[in-house]
Amino acid sequence: MNIILKPGREKSLLRRHPWVFSGAVAQVNGNPAPGATVDVRAADGQWLARAAYSPTSQIRARVWTFDPDEAVDADFFRRRISAALSLRTIFFPSPHFPQANGRAEGGTDAFRLVHAESDGLPGLVVDRYGQVLVLQSLTAGCEFWRDTLADLLLELTGAAAIYERSDADVRELEGLLPRTGLLRGAKPESRITINEYGLKFHVNIETGHKTGFYLDQRANRHKVGQLAAGRDVLNCFCYTGGFSVHAALGGAKSVLSVDTSADALALGQENTALNGIRADVSTGSTTAFEWLEADVFTALRKFRDQNRAWDLIILDPPKFAPTAVQAEKAARGYKDINRLAFKLLRPGGMLVTFSCSGGIDAALFQKIVASAALDAGVDAQIVETLTQGPDHPISVHFPEGAYLKGLVCVKG
Ligand code: SAH
Repeated sequence: MNIILKPGREKSLLRRHPWVFSGAVAQVNGNPAPGATVDVRAADGQWLARAAYSPTSQIRARVWTFDPDEAVDADFFRRRISAALSLRTIFFPSPHFPQANGRAEGGTDAFRLVHAESDGLPGLVVDRYGQVLVLQSLTAGCEFWRDTLADLLLELTGAAAIYERSDADVRELEGLLPRTGLLRGAKPESRITINEYGLKFHVNIETGHKTGFYLDQRANRHKVGQLAAGRDVLNCFCYTGGFSVHAALGGAKSVLSVDTSADALALGQENTALNGIRADVSTGSTTAFEWLEADVFTALRKFRDQNRAWDLIILDPPKFAPTAVQAEKAARGYKDINRLAFKLLRPGGMLVTFSCSGGIDAALFQKIVASAALDAGVDAQIVETLTQGPDHPISVHFPEGAYLKGLVCVKG
């Protein structure tokens, strides 16, 4: 079975970019099933890659291998998964189970083991939460190999269980229905307690966002903990309080956490208790904690009207622009919240601001933040740029994998 490309459309594959768009395909031979492996050839017949076929997606095929001698079989996936695991051992205690036990270096036992295209496994996301793996299969190709992948992951990591969270919207584009549930091992508790730099968090792997926790922000949460001492902190889009708990344990004077999700806020409150932070105490050495169920766009305006002020503001909104098509509208959203945040900061205060939108690159994000400062009538300096952690690597051939951008700005 093979795919023949239109003339000239082989260029991106020769640069090892792993996607074949539907518009590049001249011919599909052999009637491949969804997810089946096909050879991809240039118009002149040159062999280019071996890929997973996806008949309904705009991304018609995703490359497994650029090596003509490499078969796509269980051994192939064993090699790829092993490589992904060994990359993590550079930064984390052994991702192999059960040796790692949460007392490991940095106290971190939750991190991403497989980051899809960036680990040479398009469509496969695997996150480790303590002894449990949460798997997302996002493409027809992963769906085709799902059992093989699950067996290998269990064998290579020794995990107690694999829970599936293949309920991301992007599956629809692949013609796949959402699916969640136990995939291997004994059913874990829906709520797992993880360790992050020695701090503890409850993660609900069944109902939480993504696979349960925003693991990509781990190092940035730690960073905020280091910046928070003695400061009044406003954590916008707080989810289950990741930045809030780090800030409190870093010595923040007060932390106000805002999110629209009541469930996330409830778990956030539990996470403060879990870390021995006493809530609602506004004097002495204890951090004053407040949780607010509200839309951030509205809340920031209200705070402005009330003349409130903070020393450290975190903005970590959801993806406003998944692709470049939504970039313009998204830019207005980012500018709005950043402008308001600059206004709410005391002089010398810090803005830690993020975008996880694939449709907005780092240069554009910096421009948006600059124009937000201009509109707010303030001067600011960027003192640090932030990105996703090393468990979310970026393949040099797949720049789309670099999605998380952050700036630490100090208001003049
Ligand atoms: N910083 C968090 C992750 C934030 S994810 C962490 O480190 O864990 C984005 C969050 O924004 C989600 O919890 C979502 O519920 C919330 N959200 C989305 N739109 C919102 C809005 N308009 N106002 C407030 N919260 C919003």
